[in-house]
Amino acid sequence: MRRVLAAATAFAAVAVAVPLCQAQTIYPIDRADILVGSRFDFKVEFPGLADSAKISLTLNGEDHQKVFGRSAVFIEREDGKEQSALILRDVTLSQPGDYKVRATDGTLAREIAWTVYATGPRKAKNVILFIGDGMAPAHRVAARLLSKGIAEGKARGKLAIDDMPHMAMVATAGSDSIITDSANSASAYATGHKSAVNALGVYADRTSDPFDDPRVENITSLVQRRHAMAVGIVTNTEIEDATPAAMVAHTRRRAEYDRIVDHIFNAKPDVVLGGGLANFLPRSAKDSKRKDEADFVARFRDAGYSYATTAGELKSAAAMPVTRKLLGLFNLGNMDGVLDRKFLKGGTVRRFPEQPDLTEQVSAALSMLSRNEAGFFLMVESGLIDKYTHALDMERAVYDTIMLDNAVKLARDWASARGDDTLIMVVADHNHPVGLIGTINDDMTTVPNVPLRERVGTYGQAGFPNYPAPDAEGYPARVDVSRRLGMFSASLPDHYETYRPKLDGPNEPTVTGDKPDTFVANPRYKDLPGAQLRGGNLPAMINSDVHSGEDVILTATGPGSDRVRGQMDNTEVFRVIAEALGLGDGVKPDRASLP
Ligand SMILES: [Zn+2]
Repeated sequence: MRRVLAAATAFAAVAVAVPLCQAQTIYPIDRADILVGSRFDFKVEFPGLADSAKISLTLNGEDHQKVFGRSAVFIEREDGKEQSALILRDVTLSQPGDYKVRATDGTLAREIAWTVYATGPRKAKNVILFIGDGMAPAHRVAARLLSKGIAEGKARGKLAIDDMPHMAMVATAGSDSIITDSANSASAYATGHKSAVNALGVYADRTSDPFDDPRVENITSLVQRRHAMAVGIVTNTEIEDATPAAMVAHTRRRAEYDRIVDHIFNAKPDVVLGGGLANFLPRSAKDSKRKDEADFVARFRDAGYSYATTAGELKSAAAMPVTRKLLGLFNLGNMDGVLDRKFLKGGTVRRFPEQPDLTEQVSAALSMLSRNEAGFFLMVESGLIDKYTHALDMERAVYDTIMLDNAVKLARDWASARGDDTLIMVVADHNHPVGLIGTINDDMTTVPNVPLRERVGTYGQAGFPNYPAPDAEGYPARVDVSRRLGMFSASLPDHYETYRPKLDGPNEPTVTGDKPDTFVANPRYKDLPGAQLRGGNLPAMINSDVHSGEDVILTATGPGSDRVRGQMDNTEVFRVIAEALGLGDGVKPDRASLP
């Protein structure tokens, strides 16, 4: 391999023979950072038909066949179109350094650069990655105000998610857009590679098949393969949803829930907890959403998993020392947020009254995963912060931010009792354009029938909210107080702004309109006192608030957390984990297969 690097200088002379051009697309993409020994698929897409005899694909001037030990497969007509490609699946690079990757069809050439990096030795036994899906700074501040209180401008306490020694701003853009979704953002954390909207663990290529895209290895595969570590995936959304799926799946289309269940099964995480039971049930079963008759609850059981469907079953399964693998599915779809579960009983709480809290899920995961002597990687998502914010339901989003904080506090206490051998990181995957602009104060004016907007207190008029003192878990018992937080999104569909929390269930700002693929304001809220029609500022085909492109906050503690600082790219979050676990230390050449 040293020879390959040395050849880089010789290569420059060859390069002038064919004009460089942007025409070839190469995956991994230009400026990709690649962990030594991590597996990836290498693909070149030629813009038109190419002659295989004239094609050359080199790394630092050396033929790819020599570097990787086998030749890329030539596809003359991809998708039956006038476009050729080269693909070489499941390769690794075990030598760190700068690589110049050059592809030519004899007429056009493109050259890109990769950086292959090693790591130092392992510093952390375990890694816990908490993801507050769509958690914006406004959610954090509101969670702090409600769960800690504030007096004369000074918070009465700090959130566990804030009170960490290391912090960074993280950029979230994807390979295709400045605005990311939860698929490519979680993918960046899980693989260290950029990807496109809707894609998980792959570079999104031009073919129509959502399962043939060039794959990159994810963190769960790496820790299992390199260190025999245990893996846990915990969420309160559907387990097939983008963030949890990104830990294991490889597909260009996040909506492929049935196949994502296959991927979860194949990856064999030790602990899998969340919602999304409907896609585990065979098609003929009641409530199934699968398109086939596969029974994945049965398959997991046959593979040695204990199975839990309630908080009680979760607790007892995790407490049994013999339990080594655990599947917990607590709702057909997304689980319910904490405001509904503990206080309002809206959403699907009546149908699924015994769903665990995120803290109970984390507690069960920690007791099980810590039985593995080799350590573990655990991803925990508080996923409904995002869903509620899309629905302009700020109270529910804030309560689920407090729940995330409780789960982080639990994990931090657990880690410090063990002597801090665990890297704990808390990060959002993307932002929402949510602002805390003041309070909504019912008592601001005594004039009757004043539109509610006249009761929005800004600056000095905002004052402080009057929620009741929080309970032991940091939750005020009521959200419908007379001076409540005023949080608004800057991205809006047409909707009725009611300026009040929705006590009967999560907000549904829009309904399907008369024109195809359009949405209109939900008339259900039209006649609520003071409600106001707000014209949207988004295309009518969008039914909710949308993500925004600002950097998100990452906080970290534990071994390896000192690498979290300043402004970072989302792909670097993976690198912090890789460094903490020494995943690129002492890597030898490897020819094994991706799952
Ligand atoms: Zn979202």
